[in-house]
Amino acid sequence: MTLEEARAALHTARRVAVLTGAGVSAESGIPTFRDAQTGHWARFRPEDLASPGAYRRDPNMVWEWYAGRYRDVTRAQPNKAHHLLALLEREKGDGFFLATQNVDGLHARAGSERLVELHGNLSTARCEACGTVAPLPAPDTFTPPPTCPLCGSRMRPNIVWFGEFLPELALEAATRAFQEAEVALIVGTSGQVYPAAGLALETRRAGGVVIEVNPDETELTSSLTHSVRDVASKGLAALMGEA
Ligand SMILES: [Zn+2]
Repeated sequence: MTLEEARAALHTARRVAVLTGAGVSAESGIPTFRDAQTGHWARFRPEDLASPGAYRRDPNMVWEWYAGRYRDVTRAQPNKAHHLLALLEREKGDGFFLATQNVDGLHARAGSERLVELHGNLSTARCEACGTVAPLPAPDTFTPPPTCPLCGSRMRPNIVWFGEFLPELALEAATRAFQEAEVALIVGTSGQVYPAAGLALETRRAGGVVIEVNPDETELTSSLTHSVRDVASKGLAALMGEA
């Protein structure tokens, strides 16, 4: 499929499902987990900061790490890729679905609403006792750990950690959307992180078109319909005729 054909397929599709990953956040200057591990944090393995075991051993240290990430994303702004996906949602209406692996909340800040955050969100916390999810206070007034507004128990970062399952309802909704999609976009994710490959293949198996936007070839490339070799903002602009 050529770029023109991919653009036409996206334009005429009534049902569009999108999966985004770290490449979309990168253009907003959001460091990857590893890139954020500077100074004091450089000596840790990621699973020593982002796993249930690490949190049991030292909840204050884990919260200190996440409070820093939360400050990072609060300072960042949505970029053109986020805005183009919000625009695509306005064009497609009910037929649009966006799943993201990113935890920075920038899609919501750009106006995306038909959105599931598969790996959680840095700006919210979840009660360890009753499961309530609540936004964190502004970074300059936030001293972790937060306590639950309903029951007063300690809250944990609302992030899916190493060794944890993705939220079931979010994953079910994403799977259904990718099965039903006429066109699926896989943007800024390598396909190595579960569930990217699975979602793309759901669409392919059901006979839909899957278009990848990624500056590099990925493990998924060979099984997809078309690949746009560019960063998320430029690749989406090319596909949407907004360049
Ligand atoms: Zn609670």
